[in-house]
Amino acid sequence: MRFDILTIFPDIFDVVLGSSIIGRAREKGLITVNTWNIRDYTKDKHKKTDDYPYGGGSGLVMMAQPIYDAYEAVVRDLDYKPHFIYMSPQGKLLDQKLVEQLAERRHIILLCGHYEGVDERVLEKLVDEEISIGDYVLTGGELPAMVLIDAVSRAIPGVLSNEDSYADESHKNGLLEYPQYTRPYDFMGMKVPDILLSGHHANIEKWRRKQSLIRTRDKRPDLFEKLELSEEDKKLLAEDT
Ligand code: SAM
Repeated sequence: MRFDILTIFPDIFDVVLGSSIIGRAREKGLITVNTWNIRDYTKDKHKKTDDYPYGGGSGLVMMAQPIYDAYEAVVRDLDYKPHFIYMSPQGKLLDQKLVEQLAERRHIILLCGHYEGVDERVLEKLVDEEISIGDYVLTGGELPAMVLIDAVSRAIPGVLSNEDSYADESHKNGLLEYPQYTRPYDFMGMKVPDILLSGHHANIEKWRRKQSLIRTRDKRPDLFEKLELSEEDKKLLAEDT
C-alpha cells in the first residue's frame, strides 16, 4: 500500500512513521510513505503557499496552485487515480470501520492543511473524501495524517506480527479489549487473576470475553447498546450482577 502526503512540514513525519511497527512495515515493503513539500511547487516568487482570505477575516488560506501542482507531480506517471483525502475537522469521523475500508485501497494521497485551511477549489477539483480524527480543531493536518496512516497500516495483513492480537483488539467487533497483565504476578499486592495462569484455554477465552463485555458496558455504553449479544454473552454478564 502506498501513501503520499502533501504537506508544508514534511520533516514532522520522519520519527513517527520511521519507528516501531510502521517503520518495520516500511522496511519490509508492506507500505510505502512519501512526503511532498507543497512549498517546492509554488510559483510565487517569495515561495508563498498561503494568502489572505477573500472577503476579509483573520488568518491565511493555503493557495490552490501549489497543492494542485504537488498533486500533479504525485500522479504524473500513474495510470490510475489514487484516493485523495483531505484531513479536515469538517470530514467524516475516522473509526475502525473506515480504517478497514481504507486498508483495502492500494494508494492514498493525504492533504494536510494549515492556518484557516485550503482554498475550497482544491476540494472541489481533487478531493474524494474529507476525514476528521475527532470533533476538535488542530493547528495542522500532519498529526491527523499520521494517525490515519498508523491505524490503516496496522490493518494491512503482515504489518502486525501476530494477526490474532489484532482480532481481539478494542473496536474490532464493537467490543473493547479485555484487561492485559504481564510479569510480575504480584505488583504491590495486586495479583494477576488466577484464571490466566491456569493454562485452561477455553476458560481463559470465556473470562476474556466476559471482561470485554463488562468493560464495553461500563466504559462505552454507546458501543454496548449497538452490540448483538448472544445467549452465552447474556449468561456471562448475568454472572456479574
Ligand atoms: N478553519 C478550519 C475550520 O474551521 O474548519 C480549520 C482549519 S485547522 C486550524 C488547520 C488544518 O488542520 C486543517 O486544514 C486540517 O488539515 C487540519 N485539522 C485540524 N483539525 C483536524 C481534525 N480534527 N481532523 C483532521 N484534520 C484536522
